[in-house]
Amino acid sequence: MSALSVSIPTPVRPLKPPAGPEALEHMNLRQGEFWRVIPAYKDVDSDTFLNHLWQYQHSVKTPEELQHTVQDLAPPAFIEDMRAGFHRAPMNVRVSPYMIALIDWSNPYTDPIRTQFIPLASRLLPDHPKLSLDSLHELEDSPTPGLTHRYVDKALFLPTNVCPVYCRYCTRSYAIGGDTEVVEKAELATNQQRWQQAFAYIASRPELQDIVISGGDAYQLPAKSLRKIGETLLDMPNIRRIRIASKGPAVMPSKILTDTAWTEALVGLVECGRRLGKDVMLHTHFNHPNEITWITQQAMQLLFERGVMVRNQSVLIRGVNDDARTMQLLVRRLGYINVHPYYVYMHDMVKGVEDLRTTVQTAIDIEKFVRGSTAGFNTPTFVCDAPGGGGKRDVHSYDYYDRENGIAVYSAPSVKPGRWFLYFDPIDQLSPAAQERWKDPRTQDEMIADATARAAEGR
Ligand SMILES: *Cc1c(COP(=O)(O)O)cnc(C)c1O
Ligand code: SF4
Repeated sequence: MSALSVSIPTPVRPLKPPAGPEALEHMNLRQGEFWRVIPAYKDVDSDTFLNHLWQYQHSVKTPEELQHTVQDLAPPAFIEDMRAGFHRAPMNVRVSPYMIALIDWSNPYTDPIRTQFIPLASRLLPDHPKLSLDSLHELEDSPTPGLTHRYVDKALFLPTNVCPVYCRYCTRSYAIGGDTEVVEKAELATNQQRWQQAFAYIASRPELQDIVISGGDAYQLPAKSLRKIGETLLDMPNIRRIRIASKGPAVMPSKILTDTAWTEALVGLVECGRRLGKDVMLHTHFNHPNEITWITQQAMQLLFERGVMVRNQSVLIRGVNDDARTMQLLVRRLGYINVHPYYVYMHDMVKGVEDLRTTVQTAIDIEKFVRGSTAGFNTPTFVCDAPGGGGKRDVHSYDYYDRENGIAVYSAPSVKPGRWFLYFDPIDQLSPAAQERWKDPRTQDEMIADATARAAEGR
């Protein structure tokens, strides 16, 4: 109480050691006119580069366009590898100038952005023998074309099949494509009827409260269509939540700044939703910290100021973000620009991209490292969208995981009770003995029967 007691030295607690530079790295965003290192963009000023129409018009769709754009930045052997890769890839290729400019062309083989969008013949691996397991299950949960009603209270609506870029790892590679302006318009016109069918179904199911508008990609919807779809859904008394999903903020963030009509349509829906007590959010898809620059920061700041909340869903991709420090940096950087990291998905079992998948164990290890790096609400859940229609499962929640043979067994009691769902690790990541076992169809079936029997024993 007296002045004296204040001066009694209290024992000095050892200070927490200062954090290293890695704890601040997330704030270190790419600045300036970084695109000018690309030969085709060396005279492009800021206003032009940020313009969304310029970005669309200069997107790279062929090996010739890519070669013309990067010229001698990439070694000739790489160009040849890419040319062969383009011809064997299951997906169309479409890369925005923003993405092209962020690729480190002195290391194109290992660059995380190149890996996501530009196929190389030399990196392709054979598909997993059980890859086709997923087929038909999309239809099973599809009451009308372009609408997936898998869970009780939420559904996925796919109003378009075009995207601002095409990702090599896309789950919907069978449906996504068509890339000229003409094709786009024709698609949208013929889509009107399909949309009406989907709306009628959604309105007829009182248990449906939550709609994900995905695609394709909502970035490709003209502002008018986006507003129309949003307003139609907001008008339905059963609908309480809408998420508008777009890869756009990650691959062409400047559109938010320059396509005023689109951004205003989005903001308008969010405001309209708020008045009605309904939640409208933007969901996006960043995979690597290099994708986030000063342009992204400005775009996300604009949305934040206007009251648009943004969540992120990443895919865990080999050679892109399958490393604990990279994922930690991505998560912190997303938090820094007010984007909530929501999910990290196991890579789906998609054709022709075995080189991009990781093991379930990798996801578990990275999740362990990332949790504790930042606020809990900014820490993503790592999920496996169970092949066969089980829906998203927490990667840790397997009923059995045969690490040796790379078989994870999941169940989904509230989605598809009484069934097992299997996810397979990529075979080239297994031991030589396990790789041998996968060569024989009989042993394959035995390994699978054994894993599901063990999952059942655990009950
Ligand atoms: C992912 C998904 C949803 C949304 O699921 P959340 O876990 O709520 O994000 C809805 N429907 C389908 C078919 C999905 O794949
Ligand atoms: S943006 Fe989404 S839907 Fe489009 S190609 Fe990429 S992953 Fe597929």
